[in-house]
Amino acid sequence: MSSMGLYEDRVKDFDWSISEQELEYGAGGMYNIAFYCTDRICQKGLGGKPAFIWEGFSGHVKQFTYDDIRVHSNAIAQFLQNQGLEPGDRVCLFMDRIPELYIGFVGVLKMGAIAQPLFSAFGEEALFTRLEDASTKAVITTRKHLGKVRRIRKDLPALATIIVVDAGEKSLEPGEVAFDMEGAARVEDFDIYKAGPETPSVLHYTSGTTGKPKGALHVHSSLIAQYLTAKWVLDMHPDDVYWCTADPGWVTGTSYGIIGPWANGVTQVVLDAGFSAQNWYSFAERMKVTVWYSAPTAIRLLMKEGMDPVQKHDLSTLRHLVSVGEPLNAEAVIWSEKAFGRPFHDSFWQTETGSIMISNYPGMRIKPGSMGKPFPGITATVVNPKTFEPVQTPGTVGLIAIKPGWPSMFRAYWNNEQIYNAKFKNGWYLSGDRASIDGDGYFWFVGRDDDVINTAGHLVGPFEIESALLEHPAVAESAAVGKPDPINMEVVKAFIALKPGYVADDDLTMDIMNFIRKKLSPLAMPQDIEFVPSLPKTRSGKIMRRVLRAQEWGEDIGDVSTLENE
Ligand code: ATP
Ligand code: MG
Repeated sequence: MSSMGLYEDRVKDFDWSISEQELEYGAGGMYNIAFYCTDRICQKGLGGKPAFIWEGFSGHVKQFTYDDIRVHSNAIAQFLQNQGLEPGDRVCLFMDRIPELYIGFVGVLKMGAIAQPLFSAFGEEALFTRLEDASTKAVITTRKHLGKVRRIRKDLPALATIIVVDAGEKSLEPGEVAFDMEGAARVEDFDIYKAGPETPSVLHYTSGTTGKPKGALHVHSSLIAQYLTAKWVLDMHPDDVYWCTADPGWVTGTSYGIIGPWANGVTQVVLDAGFSAQNWYSFAERMKVTVWYSAPTAIRLLMKEGMDPVQKHDLSTLRHLVSVGEPLNAEAVIWSEKAFGRPFHDSFWQTETGSIMISNYPGMRIKPGSMGKPFPGITATVVNPKTFEPVQTPGTVGLIAIKPGWPSMFRAYWNNEQIYNAKFKNGWYLSGDRASIDGDGYFWFVGRDDDVINTAGHLVGPFEIESALLEHPAVAESAAVGKPDPINMEVVKAFIALKPGYVADDDLTMDIMNFIRKKLSPLAMPQDIEFVPSLPKTRSGKIMRRVLRAQEWGEDIGDVSTLENE
C-alpha cells in the first residue's frame, strides 16, 4: 500500500467489478440477491455459522445459522409460490422486528417477487396509501397487526392474500392463510428465481420527512454496491458481530440490516425491544457487538442519558461505530469518543441511492461534523442551484449531486415518473440536500433544500444552528425553522427539547441565547426559542421540520402519515 492511505488507494483503482468478482456475481446466471445472502454463504462452507441472533421484548433469544435462514427462506418462497404469487408481484412485510421479517424478506426475493417492507408501527392510513400505491398483492403480518390490514382490505382490490405467521389455533378469515416459519418443514431445495441484474427487488417508501413518501424501486444488482459498502464503510470482517439498530421499514434496515451483513457472511444481532440506553448497552455487552450502525436520533438519546449507564457496561468489544439518517453533530462525535473510546463515523445516503454515498471511511481522519468523502466509485459533488454546474470554490454551498450509474441507484419512483425525472439535472442526480466541500474534499451538510431558512436574502442551514444548540448542556435536541418576519422575510426560530433536570424558563432561554451567540453569525441566531417536550419525527427518527414550519406559517401540515407520535 502506498503512503496515500487505504481510502485514496481504493479511489484510484476503483471499479465496481471488484465487488462482482468477490461475490462471483452472475456466476451460473445467478443475480438474485437472496442467493448471495444465504445459499452462497452455505456453499462456502459457512452453513453452520450464526447468521442471526434475535432477542425479543421479553428477553427471549433465538439463533439461526446460515443454513437455517437458507431453508426457512426456501420454505417461505415455496409457500408464496403455492399461494399463486408470481415474480414481480409486490409482497409487503408488515411485522415487528421478528425473525420472520428478516428471513421473509429473503424468501420474497427468492421467488422473484418485489419485497415491500413497511414499519409495523404504521397506522391504517399510512399502510393503506402505500399498499394502494403499489397495488400490493400480499401482506405478510402477525396477529398483532392483522386488525389494521383487515380494516382497509375491502378498499384494496389488488390485495389477494394475507399471510399470518403466528396464526396459532384461532381461525382466520377468508383470504387469510397461516404460515408458521419455524414449524414448517425444512425445504432443502428451492429453485431460486432467475432474476436478471435489472429485475426489480425491493420497493422502499421514503421516510416522508419532506412530503408525501415516494416509492423508490430497486433492482437485484443493487447488491454489488450494498455488499462492498457494507464491507468497506461498515468495516465488516468475518468474525464481526454486527448490530444495525434500524427497522427494515426504513432502507437502512434492509440494505444494511439484511442484505449487506448476510452477503458478507457476518453474524448479525437484532434487538426487538423499545429504546433505552440501559437496554441498548446491555444488549451490546451481552452480544459482544463489534460493529454498530445507528442514527443521530438514537445517539442524541444516549447522550441525554449521560455517562452513568455507559460506565455500568463493558462495551470494550465495540470496534467500529457508524451513523446515518440525519446530520451527525460534531458534539455527538466528540461524545462518542469519550463514551466508547471511538468516534461515530457519519455516513450519508438515501432511500433512492440504495447504498452509502458519502462517509467517513475507516482509517480516514474524521473531521467532526463532516459527512466525509464519496465512496470509491461514487462521483459526488456540490452544484450551483441555478446552473447545476459544480461549484468551483471550496466552501461554497450548493446542492449535493451524484453522477448516475452506481449499481444501487433507484430505477423509478413507483407511479411517479414526473418526480423521478425532476431529480436529474444537467447529468446529475440531485439528492435534495445542501452542502459544501472543503479544500480537503470533505463534505459538510447544511440542510435539506426545503429546510434552508431564507433570512433577509441569506440562506441559513438548520444544521449549524442545531449543532451549536446541542453543545449547551441543557439541550437534548432541537429543530431550527424559519418563521415569518415582516422585515427579513424569515427569521430563525428554534424548538428545543431539554435534558432531564432542566427547567424551561426565561433564564434558561437567556442562557442558551448567550451561549450560542458566540458560535453563530447574527443571521443564524434564533430570534425565538420555544421549549417543547419532544420534536415531531418520522418513524425512521428524522426530525420533521416542515411540521414545525407549517405551524409557524399557519399552513397545512401536509402528509404526516409517517409521524412517530400520531
Ligand atoms: P422524504 O424523501 O420522503 O422526504 P427522507 O428524505 O427523510 O424522506 P430517506 O431516504 O430515509 O427519506 O432519507 C434521506 C435523507 O436523509 C437525505 O436526503 C438527507 O436529507 C438525510 N440524511 C441521511 N443521512 C444523512 C447524513 N449523514 N447527514 C445529513 N443528512 C442525512
Ligand atoms: Mg428524501
